[in-house]
Amino acid sequence: MYRSYWETRSKVPLERAMSPKALDWKEALEARLGPGSVGTHVPLAPFTTFQIGGPADLFFRAETSEALAKAILAGRELAIPTFLLGKGANILVADAGFRGLVIRNQVGGIEFLAGDRVRAGAGVEVYPSLIEATVEMGLGGLHHFVGIPSTVGGALWQNLHFLSPAPERARTVFIEEVVESAQILSEEGRLEEVGRDYFNFGYDFSVLHEREDTVLTATFRLDPQEKERLRRIMAENLSWRAERHPDLRQLPSAGSVFKKMEGIGAGRLIDECGLKGATHGGAQIFHRHANIIVNLGGASAADVLFLILQARDTVLKETGHELVPEIGMIGEFHLPSPSK
Ligand SMILES: Cc1cc2nc3c(=O)[nH]c(=O)nc-3n(C[C@H](O)[C@H](O)[C@H](O)COP(=O)(O)OP(=O)(O)OC[C@H]3O[C@@H](n4cnc5c(N)ncnc54)[C@H](O)[C@@H]3O)c2cc1C
Repeated sequence: MYRSYWETRSKVPLERAMSPKALDWKEALEARLGPGSVGTHVPLAPFTTFQIGGPADLFFRAETSEALAKAILAGRELAIPTFLLGKGANILVADAGFRGLVIRNQVGGIEFLAGDRVRAGAGVEVYPSLIEATVEMGLGGLHHFVGIPSTVGGALWQNLHFLSPAPERARTVFIEEVVESAQILSEEGRLEEVGRDYFNFGYDFSVLHEREDTVLTATFRLDPQEKERLRRIMAENLSWRAERHPDLRQLPSAGSVFKKMEGIGAGRLIDECGLKGATHGGAQIFHRHANIIVNLGGASAADVLFLILQARDTVLKETGHELVPEIGMIGEFHLPSPSK
């Protein structure tokens, strides 16, 4: 499986692509995490919503918060380049993959607490798992984020957001509004319970962008509401999204590619430069929403990167505005600065 994927994507022989230290790292990791627990040459494409990306040298699935914390600490102790992967909905993984350890966060568990609160493992999918569970209990707050691919950890990293309910859609609702606290493994290696303020949430921003903290679990304080009302808002939000966004099952993507530009709109600028529908290889600037790039089938990360650079450079040249990628570039990328 891995070899055929690799061979269709690259002229570099597999053996040369791996870090020369990978097998030593595997042994040292397995001494800490358990025999047979670390995979090698694992293709990352299936773990991303773009369905793009070469192999991780080393791959570990963390299914409990203890295992997640242990894996992060082991990576640090052994000085192995490490990437923590959630649902892979906000990243582009390089065709050459990742020379180090990818930890897939699958920390589960949904526990209802007194006071309309719920605690979820950081690897729980916000939708459908957490939203369905909370709405079934008649608890609102997370339902706004229906249809958005994300783990709980990724949602805190990003401060997940969506528009307030129809018909007004008057403001942006952020997940920070229902975050009460979280258990983290801090950058300094301590297990801590931190409150909402710790995260310093902003638009597409939390402290997790600046500090190497790992969210292990998060607790949300929700609002009791009628289930029928919650279900109606969910249906409206899903149909709003279906009209504007590509269906991930047919057109894989990573959502918005460039950061929001208040009052201007990254998508509008790209559209004005005539790039809506532009294609390169298997990638396309989505014809209904120019801030989204879709994988038409068989797109490489290089195809997507080409369109990102084309959009960024054209918009800069023609409008003077500098687009900044929102999605994370994971692995071996070389992103030149804008050509003015
Ligand atoms: C079709 C589509 C529509 C989208 N629509 C929206 C939208 O409406 N609103 C919106 O806000 N976003 C949207 N997004 C973006 C995406 O859903 C969010 O950014 C999401 O929160 C990413 O979560 P993830 O689990 O996939 O994180 P990943 O993409 O796997 O990782 C993103 C970053 O989070 C870090 N991270 C993940 N877990 C943890 C953790 N436990 N602790 C610390 N750091 C962690 C990773 O290391 C990485 O740096 C959309 C994406 C797609 C594909």
